Amino acid sequence: MISEPYPELDDMLTMMGAAGRHLAEIEASEGAAGNISVCMRWKVELRTRFPVIAEMELPQPVPELAGATFLVSGSGRRLREIIDDPTANIACITVNAGGRTGRLFTSYHQRFERVTSEFNSHLAVHYDQMLASGSNFHAIIHAQPIHLTYLSHIPRYQDESYLNTHLLRWQPETIINLPEGIGFIPFRIPGSPQLMAASVECLRSHRIVIWAKHGVMARSDVSVKRAADRVEYAETAAKYEYLNLAAREAGEGLSVDEIRTICNSFHIQQTIF
Ligand SMILES: [Zn+2]
Repeated sequence: MISEPYPELDDMLTMMGAAGRHLAEIEASEGAAGNISVCMRWKVELRTRFPVIAEMELPQPVPELAGATFLVSGSGRRLREIIDDPTANIACITVNAGGRTGRLFTSYHQRFERVTSEFNSHLAVHYDQMLASGSNFHAIIHAQPIHLTYLSHIPRYQDESYLNTHLLRWQPETIINLPEGIGFIPFRIPGSPQLMAASVECLRSHRIVIWAKHGVMARSDVSVKRAADRVEYAETAAKYEYLNLAAREAGEGLSVDEIRTICNSFHIQQTIF
């Protein structure tokens, strides 16, 4: 939830650009991999920056989100380049009454044909989360951080309990920032209805989920940067785990007692340890 004064359109575009650049810096977005979207329920003036208007069908009806505005990265665009020219890399969609269609706002110098092919998953998760929480803001990032994605190829890390007890043991911050742990979704075809449905379900109980053998999806109802932080916390944990595997598991990690003490001190509710 964001309280007034609401961020201006330009501020939101800049925050999406900064998050995109940072995801590239932490090696979570090679080439055109990854995508970012936000949903805002306050009134946003779009025409000055995005004067080209077209009607579009939404991937699913979202009647309760009529009037909401989405900012979505374009298909094939590089997250690291959003910051240089946001309007060339991002499209806006406002939801029409009834929620089946929307108005697509783009710039004259847009460098993409369609919004990201993962928009079906983004829209479904925004819809599910915003209805459940009543928030006026929601941000989603899909990124492909190397270590998390690599670990998702190793069978024993495909078990959510094994994954979390091993990744959340390297730094006190990890359990504080990800008290529900990291969700795990078995491999699903990118852009598919199966990946969309699994993402909706798994993000109900987690702030970040792994898409096995592909990447992650993270959400925040505070800011785009907060969603990017979640990718970074989880990826840092995976990097420690990878280091430990490479060092023949020489590290002991925080003990279960140490982690429980951290949680007690910081009033963190968790069920992983
Ligand atoms: Zn991807």
